[in-house]
Amino acid sequence: MNVECLLRDSMKTKPKSNRGARQKTSTPKNVTRMNYNENPYGMSDEVKKAVTDASLNSYMYQDFYAVDLKKQLADLYGLTVDHVCIGAGSSAIIDMLGEVFINYGDEVVYCAPTYEAFPDMVSDNGGVRVVLPLTDDYCYDLDAMLAAITDKTKMVIVCNPNNPTGTYVNSAKVEEFIRKLPDHVIPVVDEAYFEYVEDPTHYSLIKMIQEGYDRPLFVLRTFSKIYGMAGLRIGYTFADPLLIDELMKACQAWNVSYNALAAAQAALKDQEYIKKIKALTTAGREYLEDELTKLGCTLAKPCANFIYFDTHHDPKEIRAALAERKIMISAFGFNRVSVGTEEQNKAFIAALKEILAAY
Ligand SMILES: *Cc1c(COP(=O)(O)O)cnc(C)c1O
Repeated sequence: MNVECLLRDSMKTKPKSNRGARQKTSTPKNVTRMNYNENPYGMSDEVKKAVTDASLNSYMYQDFYAVDLKKQLADLYGLTVDHVCIGAGSSAIIDMLGEVFINYGDEVVYCAPTYEAFPDMVSDNGGVRVVLPLTDDYCYDLDAMLAAITDKTKMVIVCNPNNPTGTYVNSAKVEEFIRKLPDHVIPVVDEAYFEYVEDPTHYSLIKMIQEGYDRPLFVLRTFSKIYGMAGLRIGYTFADPLLIDELMKACQAWNVSYNALAAAQAALKDQEYIKKIKALTTAGREYLEDELTKLGCTLAKPCANFIYFDTHHDPKEIRAALAERKIMISAFGFNRVSVGTEEQNKAFIAALKEILAAY
């Protein structure tokens, strides 16, 4: 069977994706998961209860328009339901952005390494990846991105905080960058880890939408990280209602489950839990920073629930050695470890100490 000739042009030329979802490998079981930036404490008790109750109602279709959740988000941020689009994770919204806005030949500018959903989205739709290096301190290089804008640029991505490096650019700088963009460019700011940032001067770019910014801008958020709901699959974006109307054209039918909607509504009401998780995560991150530094590793300055670090050895080898000890971390240019529970963090450091001593 000649499958190749059946493919859409963009799929014929698309480079192989590195993302887990596009590999034929399962997630290993019975291991310590410090490779997915999940919240190791899980969902709050209120959310667990909401999911359990909702499960029994799952014979029904959920509210496709998700108006209750949208209303809650709108109230929380002083916007309207027309400013919100809900998706099955913010990754699904990234896919929708590509489907609606990226044409063959459109350029999308971003820095790498970054979240792999972005390069996939660009290539899925025949766009051109314009990939710039991060700065020397592993941050998004907004000056270089501005200089890379051409007539063909359709979109710019700012993953802030950035995954996998865990660094952030202060939002005042991001706002300044966005205001300098020409009208034909859509900035997409991914704030999946916004809630973890301690810097009191760092604000969400949702602010610009609240102020009625009348040019393109999408700000993405998710329930997968600090809310501890990764497996439920729900995220959202804020944008001007004119942009949301267009984005909705690519909404998959019934894409957000009944459970996910109920959980998200309960989760938003439980902001105390988010504060608690933030404090626990900061403490765990500081412990890991200290210990990794003592072990001679070089770290990108972390602000979220994970750390990007250089052991000065092959990151894939380090990942494999830890996997043998049933501790999962990631390997990009350097290694990335998610902040776990106190017990997990200690086990990881003990294992890494052993591994590094053997070199
Ligand atoms: C984890 C993550 C997301 C969230 O993905 P979901 O599809 O909402 O689970 C989005 N952006 C970045 C940068 C991430 O690391």
